[in-house]
Amino acid sequence: MSTNHLETICIQGGYHPSKGEPRIVPIYQSTTFKYDTSEQMGKLFDLEEEGYFYTRLQNPTNDAVAAKICELEGGVAAMLTSSGQAATFFAIFNICSAGDHVVSSASIYGGSSNLFTVTLKKLGIEFTLVDPDAPEEELEKAFRPNTKAVFAETISNPSLVVLDIEKFADLAHRHGVPLIVDNTFATPINCRPFDFGADIVTHSTTKYMDGHGMTVGGCIVDSGNFDWMAHKEKFPGLTTPDESYHGIVYAERFGKKAYITKATAQLMRDLGAIQAPHNAFLLNIGLETLHLRVPRHCENAQKIAEYLQSHREVAWVSYPGLKGSRYYDLAQKYMPNGSCGVIAFGLKGGRDVSIRFMDHLKLACIVTHVADARTCVLHPASHTHRQLSEEQLIEAGVQPDLIRLSVGIENVDDLLADIQQALAFVESEA
Ligand SMILES: *Cc1c(COP(=O)(O)O)cnc(C)c1O
Repeated sequence: MSTNHLETICIQGGYHPSKGEPRIVPIYQSTTFKYDTSEQMGKLFDLEEEGYFYTRLQNPTNDAVAAKICELEGGVAAMLTSSGQAATFFAIFNICSAGDHVVSSASIYGGSSNLFTVTLKKLGIEFTLVDPDAPEEELEKAFRPNTKAVFAETISNPSLVVLDIEKFADLAHRHGVPLIVDNTFATPINCRPFDFGADIVTHSTTKYMDGHGMTVGGCIVDSGNFDWMAHKEKFPGLTTPDESYHGIVYAERFGKKAYITKATAQLMRDLGAIQAPHNAFLLNIGLETLHLRVPRHCENAQKIAEYLQSHREVAWVSYPGLKGSRYYDLAQKYMPNGSCGVIAFGLKGGRDVSIRFMDHLKLACIVTHVADARTCVLHPASHTHRQLSEEQLIEAGVQPDLIRLSVGIENVDDLLADIQQALAFVESEA
């Protein structure tokens, strides 16, 4: 494991050129890779040797960028995917099949809850959504004999619930299953879930990691800590022979890298949700400044959250950095240097006034995006969570009046002035 600090890993992690090689990660814009003998190529197909042969399975640009994220999270293996959705899907589907069950926090990204309760349900995988703040005795009741994983977000999008990672890790491990954490909002700059017992981390790299709204992408990182063989009967995909590779047993052959190797060799092979090497190159440029951007996002968000809280038109503000926040203590424990740049709040006039306020912002644009250098806003009930019923909205922690403000890294006084004028506008209308 790297002994370098996060700042150094952001810049130099994952790629170590030798003499005469490009200083910058090159874009390997090649679908395929050359070998001298048929036997050499055959060994790659049998997973007997490591190497590149077809970009759908692995590509050196992607691997360098995945290795950087792996190092940032303190994991042992990682893979890039075409999107955060693909990362979430692969992370679950790699260890679950029809007839299996997963316990997930209900406070998650709208796309993840659709994936879980609609699409994966059609594939025969059932999810029980739980209140992440419920006491352990309550959460225990969600587990079944066929439960194979626990899923949650470090800081939930958009409700900003901070996960008690240790509580969830203990719970998962008591039931012999891994904890998968979506660490998109906190990023490894603010929180490394493996340090608190999470087993697998997923990312939508589309957000802070890219940070400039350029490329949709995802990543899965494995801590290597979950002992698949100790729960052999639960995870046959990892602990029994894979006939499509002449009967290899991933957990025996690849040890701590078994999970990512299986996800690459089976899921990427069959489902093909790769990140384009060119996109991985762009993502890498974003990663190089992640350690500079994230603290500024948090600093700006803190000031704006405090301003909103003091404004008479504002009904409520949810931001883990606010002293009065329900999640302040958890945030101090798991992310003492800051949480994220996203704030959720509602206006006194309710849903309609919230929408008029948004329409009147000038710097903060309405976009279906979050965690970007540019400040942006969204009304989840009308946009990302539009498919959910009023009850499901509440269950996901998304009040109908919730405005998701993703604070960028512009000058905070300009952002405050923008918010001020939009609030003055809705006030004048009232
Ligand atoms: C955006 C997002 C996703 C989905 O990622 P895409 O890159 O948009 O596919 C998953 N989880 C969280 C927390 C997100 O914010």
